[in-house]
Amino acid sequence: MYSKILVPIDLSDVGHGKEIFRIAEKLLEPGGTITVLNVVEDIPGYVAAELPDAVVKDLSANAHTALEEATYGAGGNVKLEVRRGSPASAIVAAAEQLEVDLIIIASHSPGLADYFLGSTASRVVRHAKCPVLVDR
Ligand code: ADP
Repeated sequence: MYSKILVPIDLSDVGHGKEIFRIAEKLLEPGGTITVLNVVEDIPGYVAAELPDAVVKDLSANAHTALEEATYGAGGNVKLEVRRGSPASAIVAAAEQLEVDLIIIASHSPGLADYFLGSTASRVVRHAKCPVLVDR
């Protein structure tokens, strides 16, 4: 059992995100906390310049709403967090700052099942300082 679990969800694969969230609920100690995280990737300046300001600003708000939908019905021990940056680095940094004792991550995007691990998952496994459970 674990007291602080981090569940990074890729919004292009919410189905698998919900599955890893359910695993976290099963592995959580009573009184523990699950943080569900989405990392909004930084848009290169030359792309952002072509987009309306509102679209760029709304990315984090939309991500938060998508996490609320993915965790609908969850208890008060679930926190939602949206960070910006590179997904793997932001996930590892969040795990350290929140002092989690487990990260649960999906192995790869749907359609890439021939790969053992996706690029984000493999970087998190390599760099995290806490245990990482990879769900296939
Ligand atoms: P692939 O390289 O096949 O797209 P990834 O390694 O990027 O696979 O994704 C595997 C898992 O990593 C996702 O299901 C999710 O758990 C996590 N992940 C990937 N990108 C993000 C992101 N932007 N925010 C939060 N978690 C992410």
